[in-house]
Amino acid sequence: AHKGRLIVVSNRVALPQQTATGGLASAMRDALQERGGLWFGWSGKIAAQTAGKVHTLRDGNVEYATIDLSRRDHDDFYDGYANRTLWPLLHYRPDLVDYNRRHLDGYLRVNSLFADRVAELIAPDDLIWVNDYHLIPLAAMLRQRGVRNRIGFFLHTPLPAAGLLITLPRHRELLETLASYDLVGVHTARDLRALEDYFVNDLGATMQRGHRLRTSDGRRFKAGAFAIGIDTQKVAHDAAEAMNLEEIDSLHHSLEGRAMIIGVDRLDYSKGLPERFDAYAMLLERVPELHRKVTFLQIAPPSRSTVPEYRQIRRELERRAGHINGMYAAPDWVPIRYVNNSFPHSLLDGYYRTARVGLVTPLRDGMNLVAKEYVASQDPKDPGVLVLSRFAGAAQELPQALLVNPADPEEVAEALEQALSMPLIERKRRWRAMMDTLEKQDVTAWRQSFLGALME
Ligand code: UDP
Repeated sequence: AHKGRLIVVSNRVALPQQTATGGLASAMRDALQERGGLWFGWSGKIAAQTAGKVHTLRDGNVEYATIDLSRRDHDDFYDGYANRTLWPLLHYRPDLVDYNRRHLDGYLRVNSLFADRVAELIAPDDLIWVNDYHLIPLAAMLRQRGVRNRIGFFLHTPLPAAGLLITLPRHRELLETLASYDLVGVHTARDLRALEDYFVNDLGATMQRGHRLRTSDGRRFKAGAFAIGIDTQKVAHDAAEAMNLEEIDSLHHSLEGRAMIIGVDRLDYSKGLPERFDAYAMLLERVPELHRKVTFLQIAPPSRSTVPEYRQIRRELERRAGHINGMYAAPDWVPIRYVNNSFPHSLLDGYYRTARVGLVTPLRDGMNLVAKEYVASQDPKDPGVLVLSRFAGAAQELPQALLVNPADPEEVAEALEQALSMPLIERKRRWRAMMDTLEKQDVTAWRQSFLGALME
């Protein structure tokens, strides 16, 4: 067994008093609590200078170390290169990629400052786990500073096909730094194939046994697919408990016996929300018997609202929701309840359980935890149906969902119709199969298999 601490590095750190949102946060917190360790990242704050001071905090056996970013570094590194260049590229949206040299310079500058601070904190036996697209070159920069520890990298987004990766200006300089890690993890077999294809056919690496890659300059690293899971038992437990909450009771009453379809997504163009609204409108058009019998609740907390594409998608959704409600609403029925707030898991799990259908239709998604949470939240005696995009990583593990192409509103509308009329026995059969998978492949299994492969 490995004796050293675990050092997690990610752009954002979920401090102990904060509620963890986003796929990454709660998984990392559990990993650190289990082994003891340190979590390093951006404090979420802007200051006069980047990394002027390292803020530290201890909670049990976990230490937190965060740095502030200057306004310029935040704009170039985070809003700029990470969110306006890499994010759209990784989500198969080259049309939205906004590349410029200044943003790339900012990205490299911040990664270098991260490397300076992290290098000071590392002890010889520590295991280092770097997360996500904000920090791709970090291991290469740590190696330059003499760090010899095992370093793993996990990409929480999709990794697009090589033919798309090479459209990124100076892609080689960025992506060949992945070879400085001992292990590079992605979610699915498709992402792994894309990584290997890119390294072999575009960077001249050779493939060796067991997904090991050897670059032309002799560096070796291992690549692997590790699908992130959820804390399945906890979600199931919390969902059952939530049924006693006043908020859930109040939602239940407001439905007046109507079936509810639920969507929960950060307001992001990768989530396929306009297409989803269109599919729901198509359902109402095709099946008039459903009027007044169904309600679609879309929870969509705004994110990255300083990036123009995100402000635009927000306006677009307001327009479509207004249009659909204008078209179909009755004095006593609103077809779409569109909510721009975020909710704690304790409530969300109850909302999921109240919904007859979970509608999860990203155009691309690394994994999509909401799909898994929806399934885990269901009442085993009367489970709802998951309608899931084929282009979410979760679809690879959940073939018993109704899988759809989110760009085809007819197909999504048909799946909704099928879901709303699915007999109990079929709902149970599909749910049980998905739940078995989620119980086996939960978040603990995910981090153990990643860390196991890193220590191997
Ligand atoms: N989430 C939440 N409150 C909300 C909306 C979302 O806690 O109001 C959580 C959600 O339960 C899930 C995570 O945020 O655990 C979103 O992860 P996902 O993989 O679905 O998408 P991401 O936002 O990481 O792209």
